[in-house]
Amino acid sequence: MIPYGRQSISAEDIAAVDAVLRSDFLTQGPAVPAFESVLASYCGARHAVAVNSATSALHMACLALDLGPGDLLWTSPNTFVASANCALYCGADVDFVDVDPRSYNLCPQRLAEKLERAKARGRLPKVVVAVHFSGQSCDMSAIGELSRRYGFAVIEDASHAIGARYGDAPVGNCGHSRMTVFSFHPVKIVTTAEGGLITTQDDALAQRLQRLRSHGITRDPAQMEDAPEGPWYYQQVELGYNYRMTDMQAALGSSQMTRLDAFIARRRALAARYDRLLADLPLVLPAQANGQESAWHLYVVQSTAVPRASLFERLRAAGIGVNVHYIPVHLQPHYRRLGFKPGDFPQAEAYYSRAVSLPMYAGLSDEQQDHVVTALRDALR
Ligand SMILES: *Cc1c(COP(=O)(O)O)cnc(C)c1O
Repeated sequence: MIPYGRQSISAEDIAAVDAVLRSDFLTQGPAVPAFESVLASYCGARHAVAVNSATSALHMACLALDLGPGDLLWTSPNTFVASANCALYCGADVDFVDVDPRSYNLCPQRLAEKLERAKARGRLPKVVVAVHFSGQSCDMSAIGELSRRYGFAVIEDASHAIGARYGDAPVGNCGHSRMTVFSFHPVKIVTTAEGGLITTQDDALAQRLQRLRSHGITRDPAQMEDAPEGPWYYQQVELGYNYRMTDMQAALGSSQMTRLDAFIARRRALAARYDRLLADLPLVLPAQANGQESAWHLYVVQSTAVPRASLFERLRAAGIGVNVHYIPVHLQPHYRRLGFKPGDFPQAEAYYSRAVSLPMYAGLSDEQQDHVVTALRDALR
């Protein structure tokens, strides 16, 4: 079976993890800050805070913005459930903004219209999570402008988009947002097994995130409520969590980062080959927005002639591990119980009904990709 995504682990990656295992620190040693500085400099961000998953990162980003009961977070329905669950963890409410039918990202036009209605009703969102679906950035200058007009904070969920560019900046630069979240799950572009990270340009947010990932504890006298009682002293100044990344994960991440540009180049080449090889088939192929470079986490086609379910089953039977991204979050039972229903976000639902994610990862060979294309041709006959 050719999977839809797969990690790429080199001998250097294994040696980097092995070296940590032989060292004094398995966690809270030097590898985490080293990984953070690699990410900060890659993204051109003042700060990077590594954690144990993107799910934790999203939760902490919401906490750092003081999202709580009575507040509202909006995101795209075309995402992994974690982009919305972070609000529920904080006791806040969730709503969604439908997607653009070309990029499958949160639609800035619909966002503007929904904000106008929300303002009239007196219930504006405190946070909007902009998900860079498939590795292509959202229209961040439009979303950033709306955030200034309506006073909400933007968190970028760049779980798909490390190595992507928006305009002349790397995603993670936070030019139009307060924080950007990355995931290092093995199906993503760079892996630490489990892992996540937040970039920000804001010193106060970075300090808060560092505290929240470790129980809300600080050893910095400037953050304490009283003078330290001695050199052993620490204070828990708020309720935090154990969301720390290990040194083994961070060492793997730093080693992976040395190949990020090669990973992206290979993904881009595979996307261009798919574009060429699939052009004559009854499929909607991914559209690239101007001035953007996708990280190509996913290559999604929409089936216009053959029902998606039968296309999916034929491809799986042919040994092609296709997948579907995403079942709209508002249709999950947990969200239906909150009042959402079919028809609420028609663009995301129409897209979902036709979408299939084809195999896309740096280790996919041309021959394997040709095999995927042949199977797809047969399945569409
Ligand atoms: C994978 C993913 C997450 C969650 O990442 P974890 O590191 O597995 O917690 C969140 N949002 C999106 C869009 C994702 O694809």
